Amino acid sequence: MPAHHKMVVPHAGGLLRNYVAGEFVGSERTFANVTPVDGSTINEVCEADSALVDRAVAAAREALHGPWGKMSLDERSALLHKVADGIEARFDEFVAAEMADTGKSLWQAQNIDIPRGAANFRAFADLAKSRAGECFQSTTPDGGQALNYSVHKPLGVVAVIAPWNLPLLLLTWKLGPAMAVGNTVIAKPSEDTPGTATLLAEVMHAAGVPAGVFNLVHGFGPNSAGEFLTTHRGIDAVTFTGESRTGAAIMRAAADNVKALSFELGGKNAALIFEDADFDAAVEGTAKSVFTNGGQVCLCTERVYVQRPIFERFVAAMKEKAEALRIDWPESPDTDMGPLISHEHQQKVLSYYQLAGEEGATFITGGGVPTFGDERDNGAFVEPTIITGLPESARCIKEEVFGPICHIAPFDTEEEAIALANDSEYGLAGTVWTTHLQRAHRVAQQIDAGIVWVNAWYLRDLRTPFGGVKLSGIGREGGVHSLNFYSEPTNICIKF
Ligand code: NAD
Repeated sequence: MPAHHKMVVPHAGGLLRNYVAGEFVGSERTFANVTPVDGSTINEVCEADSALVDRAVAAAREALHGPWGKMSLDERSALLHKVADGIEARFDEFVAAEMADTGKSLWQAQNIDIPRGAANFRAFADLAKSRAGECFQSTTPDGGQALNYSVHKPLGVVAVIAPWNLPLLLLTWKLGPAMAVGNTVIAKPSEDTPGTATLLAEVMHAAGVPAGVFNLVHGFGPNSAGEFLTTHRGIDAVTFTGESRTGAAIMRAAADNVKALSFELGGKNAALIFEDADFDAAVEGTAKSVFTNGGQVCLCTERVYVQRPIFERFVAAMKEKAEALRIDWPESPDTDMGPLISHEHQQKVLSYYQLAGEEGATFITGGGVPTFGDERDNGAFVEPTIITGLPESARCIKEEVFGPICHIAPFDTEEEAIALANDSEYGLAGTVWTTHLQRAHRVAQQIDAGIVWVNAWYLRDLRTPFGGVKLSGIGREGGVHSLNFYSEPTNICIKF
């Protein structure tokens, strides 16, 4: 019996309901939640209609001025720690639900997604309590004094719209700070990953979060829960992670009543490998940055530029790494890569593999679909793929694939490397591999991206600013940046 049969997925064969005004609510319409591992249906999901979204908005508005608004910061913070405790107490259920929905590996779910789900509540519960204020004293024209200080109020009712690649992690990354500073929220997870968000609603309920503070609505984007939220007059802010073109659609929808927006969008991230890099560390780190979570992390590298003297050796070493990756049942402890999120996404990634061939790429490895001879042949698997030889104008170099693929190209000078990294409509992340201290600082500071790693990848400190430039987003979250986005300062000026 394959290892995956041992996992008990919460609500398997049942219904995933919405959570509105402190109650679990069904709906007339449901849709199937399908696992990409073997294409089977895990459970049915209740799709929220516009009337239910209206109810969620009304409940959130009421709670904003009711119990939540009256709660002290200390009490709110303690309650969010209790939510984190609740996630940890049901850790294995969260892991099983996340793996079933996404096909991500056990290692990834246990070590990254679910722990960060809890950490996001703890970090922002604490940060909100240690937030510094600002105060300015000045002389007035009549010779008196004026003291200016700011108080922070919640934004109001916040819609949190999340993608499927790191479902619990990215949802809670926004819920944590939004709730910590006193907002009420309506969460909409991706239609592909409704599992852990539903468990989170159960945890919120059990922790005693007052009715209406946290609401969950399931559904899709256009003409479904996503659009009902972004066009709703009762929503004060939309915080969104997902594709850049979805961000553009949300911006248009939210324009009519000028909602506050925070967007974390797509990327086409570059890694620059200099000949003075620690070669093995650069190969290891770059392979990780290309293939982690099947390349389905917004921070993943899809463009690799290597200084010419080490180019051939680097390509050969990357090929070895890619071919050593274990593609297997997600539940198997030594699996490196499971399937992609869905058959639809598998087709998108495969269409880029095909396009790469048409554009004239050389396939160093991969380019197809692995075969297993069991139920996994119905899954959404693709091979880890490395290509070379494309011109910089190729669509495969310009467009985000969001799969386990990278293109590797040579460069000669530092200036050329920087120009190549920046020649993109996106600007989310960049990675620099070098042991030259001055070069590390010089190059890192010239890359147009929200985050640049030197000799590392995917190290995250929740207190630091996170977001993207150009098509990769608007604004920054993380640490005080999150606290600032999710609240409105009012300046108080006192003359004396
Ligand atoms: P997506 O844009 O298709 O969907 C994201 C969410 O938006 C889903 O919940 C979806 O239902 C909803 N949605 C879709 N259309 C909508 C509309 N018109 N109105 C309101 N809601 C709508 O993204 P995805 O495919 O789920 O995720 C992958 C994308 O997310 C990639 O582009 C990736 O780079 C990006 N991403 C960015 C970050 C970051 O921090 N910058 C992190 C993770 C993923």
